[in-house]
Amino acid sequence: MKIFHTIIVICAGLCVLGAGCVTEPQSAGPVIIQSPPEYSIKVLLDSSAEKVSFRIEDEYQIVNYDTMEILQATGSSDAVEATIDNNSIRVGQQIFKSSKVIIQPKHNQPFVFNETMTYRGGLELIINSDKKTLTVINNVPMESYLAGVVASEMPSYWETEALKAQAIAARTYCLYIKSKFGKNRSWDVKTTQANQVYRGVRAETIRTTDAVNSTFGIILCDNEFTEPFPAYYSSACGGHTEDSQNVFGDSFESLKGVDCQFCRTTTRPSLFYWPDVKFDKETVNKNIFEKYPTIQQDLDSIKKIEAVKESKYDNNFARITSVKLTGSNGKTAFLRAEDLRLAIDSTGSKIQSASCTIISLDNEFIFTAGKGFGHGVGLCQYGAREMARQGKTAEEILSFYYPGCRFKSMY
Ligand SMILES: [Zn+2]
Repeated sequence: MKIFHTIIVICAGLCVLGAGCVTEPQSAGPVIIQSPPEYSIKVLLDSSAEKVSFRIEDEYQIVNYDTMEILQATGSSDAVEATIDNNSIRVGQQIFKSSKVIIQPKHNQPFVFNETMTYRGGLELIINSDKKTLTVINNVPMESYLAGVVASEMPSYWETEALKAQAIAARTYCLYIKSKFGKNRSWDVKTTQANQVYRGVRAETIRTTDAVNSTFGIILCDNEFTEPFPAYYSSACGGHTEDSQNVFGDSFESLKGVDCQFCRTTTRPSLFYWPDVKFDKETVNKNIFEKYPTIQQDLDSIKKIEAVKESKYDNNFARITSVKLTGSNGKTAFLRAEDLRLAIDSTGSKIQSASCTIISLDNEFIFTAGKGFGHGVGLCQYGAREMARQGKTAEEILSFYYPGCRFKSMY
């Protein structure tokens, strides 16, 4: 069976299945085929906002979540401010005696948030336990969310099959994260690379939205299971992707490392072979202790960092997977190499990967001979681009980077 259809074929199939073929307003950007309403993603926009603003140039509703009363509102080109007012939520001049309100455009019109971003779906405001700040969530239909993710995670001019592979990986990943973590918190994912980068409507392009539409609802399942797995992806693996177990500590059949001969060709050399990075000991200590306070209690201060476990592959590629930290008091602690990298350099833009050599000097640590960009688990984005250039389909690309994965329609 051919898995990937054109938009027209999917639409026809959907209508037959009764799932509906609702699309969003043409004026709002590229048309996105809508997921069934029960498939939405809650994206955390802010965990501690004192106030927010939104602008909707169309009718919308404000729902008092505690009483389920609905206030109809007429939009305008003016921004409306929302704050906490005496344990209630004030939206414009209206006070809602509720711990949560939902602001929902009536005709799927995107809304402007804090005058900087534009999002599809609705806006949820929840009073935090400190009673002073709000948790702010964009509750957005799955496929609309993906249109904002694919456009943020991969350049829109990349090959169509690479964009489609990205769309399926992103859909699978967020579905897994939602089912695994969303039940125990008010949101599913963040807007950053901690999960997947999501820049909303302003990032959307016709080509990236086409990639989402033409893979509508398709997800990956791990080997013989019927459930999605965390289909991680990263920029350039550097020569070999990594077992998820070694990087994130979770184990899935389809997240085993594979020999990648593709990203080296496509990745800019300065990105593929990253320059040496030096961090003074004071910064390294401060950054690691901030994230791992118990290490400070145990080691006092970190004198030496050394690789104790590495994945070594036939193609001469190696990645550090575990490091030993030795303290000034002689005691030791261990961290996964990926955790160390992101503790020292939270964006990962300097220490680009754990495929490097660590040198401990008296006053500084040097990360040298680095290769690749990102954690290296799952899909290698630059590798996917090269495979697409060589004529491989999204299905072939995904089957290569997630060995043994199976394709399934989620709707
Ligand atoms: Zn690669």
